[in-house]
Amino acid sequence: MPPSSPPDHAEIRAAVARLCAGFPGAYWRQLDVERAYPTAFVQALTQGGYLACLIPAEYGGSGLGLAAAAAILEEIHKSGGNGAACHAQMYVMGTLLRHGSAAQKSRWLPQVAAGALRLQAFGVTEPSAGTDTTAIQTTAVRQGDRYLVNGQKVWTSRAEHSDLMLLLARTAPRDRIAKRTEGLSVFLVDLRNARGVSIRPIRTMLNHATTEVFFENLEVPAENLIGEEGRGFRYILDGMNAERILIASECIGDARWFIGKATEYAKTRVVFDRPIGQNQGVQFPIARAYAASEAADLMVQRAAALYEAGEPCAKEANMAKLLAADASWQAADMCVQTHGGFGFAAEYDVERKFRETRLYQVAPISTNLILAYLAEHVLGLPRSY
Ligand SMILES: Cc1cc2nc3c(=O)[nH]c(=O)nc-3n(C[C@H](O)[C@H](O)[C@H](O)COP(=O)(O)OP(=O)(O)OC[C@H]3O[C@@H](n4cnc5c(N)ncnc54)[C@H](O)[C@@H]3O)c2cc1C
Repeated sequence: MPPSSPPDHAEIRAAVARLCAGFPGAYWRQLDVERAYPTAFVQALTQGGYLACLIPAEYGGSGLGLAAAAAILEEIHKSGGNGAACHAQMYVMGTLLRHGSAAQKSRWLPQVAAGALRLQAFGVTEPSAGTDTTAIQTTAVRQGDRYLVNGQKVWTSRAEHSDLMLLLARTAPRDRIAKRTEGLSVFLVDLRNARGVSIRPIRTMLNHATTEVFFENLEVPAENLIGEEGRGFRYILDGMNAERILIASECIGDARWFIGKATEYAKTRVVFDRPIGQNQGVQFPIARAYAASEAADLMVQRAAALYEAGEPCAKEANMAKLLAADASWQAADMCVQTHGGFGFAAEYDVERKFRETRLYQVAPISTNLILAYLAEHVLGLPRSY
């Protein structure tokens, strides 16, 4: 059994909180207006070594476990910032670490760890396939010592701010494979000076640097295929638990930011000659959001501990993501309500964080699909799709 109360990484948390103090609400607010990428923040995190925390020491990283990465992301969100600008580097590299060859790891990881290369883009979702990843249509066809990639991805976040992209593409036609999970492969695509790639930003309700990416006869060297051809879907699935846990910790950070902000405001805003927080109608939703986020955090910690111990944790990782995303959304709604009209004013940051945390009900996996996983794989109910 993994320890029931994993180390809380207090030192890392304190250091990340100090770093984030240099990037206050005004910094994120301005970026939000301009829909600009937080380059200075990502550079500071990279220089601090935080983005390389999961890379083993032999490749120049700090070789920490998932709980440390989760603590870093939680602190970023708790400070009012957003880890989406860089969190993919933490979960994408798991595929390279677990399934990449020794040559691939020594070629890429030291550069990623040193901050010379950014591994921030993850190209899975396609417009026509949506959540049904096995229906993707982007193809990679082997021609000698390279693959020719054609097709389109959508919602490929940070593609304009990344040197490398982990790409899932079809290497065998869907009607020629025995199982729908076969025939897909993962590639490490070098986006620098790549010919045959065009990237179009998508403007969204939050500042997320997300894009659509078009491939037209993009040449990818065969040596950039990760693992075995045709097993890519499995490799991506392998990384899902880590992704769920990391995203859940961002949600916990958001929830804590909303609760802190609402509590402070409720203590100081005076209406009818008393602080609004003296009214139970105001304080109970804050207390309820607090209880929900603390409970969700226990599940996040449990999932991370199981993951670090190498135990199965799909059930816990999915529940952590579900509960934490619900807790952050509940806290966001409560925080707007507590602030009354000022919850809608940009300078309070509440409306920005409200928009940002809404994403987690949909991406990287929607709430319905987590519920479907629990219903089918944990409770044994019939598959619904
Ligand atoms: C800002 C943003 C950033 C993103 N970044 C990335 C990224 O970097 N890389 C990447 O690959 N993807 C990324 N995504 C894509 C994201 O993972 C998908 O949007 C998400 O998985 C949902 O897929 P979809 O949008 O195609 O929705 P759809 O699959 O079209 O689903 C629409 C709705 O129907 C529901 N639904 C569908 N099927 C079922 C079913 N069988 N049962 C019950 N409900 C169902 C879903 O839950 C959802 O609510 C991003 C998305 C956004 C919005």
